[in-house]
Amino acid sequence: MADYTTAKYDAIYKVTVIGDSQVGKTSIIRKFVDHNAPDHYPPTIGVDFGIKDIMVDNEKCRVQIWDTAGQERFRAVTSCYFRGAHGVVLVYDVTQARTFDNIQFHLAQAVKFTRDDQPMIMVGNKCDLTHKRAVSYELAERYAEAFGMQLIETSALNLTNIEQVFVRLIHQIREKKKKEKECGGGGGGKGGTGGGDGGKTKLFGSGGTIEKTYNKCCS
Ligand code: GDP
Ligand code: MG
Repeated sequence: MADYTTAKYDAIYKVTVIGDSQVGKTSIIRKFVDHNAPDHYPPTIGVDFGIKDIMVDNEKCRVQIWDTAGQERFRAVTSCYFRGAHGVVLVYDVTQARTFDNIQFHLAQAVKFTRDDQPMIMVGNKCDLTHKRAVSYELAERYAEAFGMQLIETSALNLTNIEQVFVRLIHQIREKKKKEKECGGGGGGKGGTGGGDGGKTKLFGSGGTIEKTYNKCCS
């Protein structure tokens, strides 16, 4: 077990994980924190929390991961959960089309409670269940790209791409910070003007209106 009280790290990042109930959020977090975690465990009560140090761009980064621990079942995830988050992981289950449709709701929540240019990554979990696949990679990738997000398919069961989710997201967060620094700090927020090499996608639907800005920089 790593000693997180004294271990040295270069930076610390808070990441929130959202998505429908049963898509595998808790499993992804547990397997990321400890590759040998059991596949099955009792349901969690209250906020669940994971912590792990990883190397990203040759720097030791501490990742604090927040799990919704059941509130998502009642769509009762609040602003507190997103407070101070540097990035968001949006998870659906590749075998359940409904969980992919609901990404729109979770994305709208994330945009509402963070910033419209917050780094986010979309994760299609349970890719080991190939015979049950209901959401194609291509469809999900088109959706993710429309909002300037990367898509990554994972399996918490066989550890496919689990570490990659966090490495890629932290890399994006660092790139965004670097850009903001180069642009003299700040970096805008809701209602910004966009510009640079970025873009803005607006979507109307059951999840409300989502307006997400990405790769924003001054120029
Ligand atoms: P949560 O409600 O989103 O936190 O989902 P859980 O992590 O509790 O997982 C829900 C169920 O899906 C559990 O029975 C897990 O064992 C199972 N599960 C999670 N990830 C995977 C995966 O990648 N592949 C398969 N086959 N099952 C998974
Ligand atoms: Mg859970």
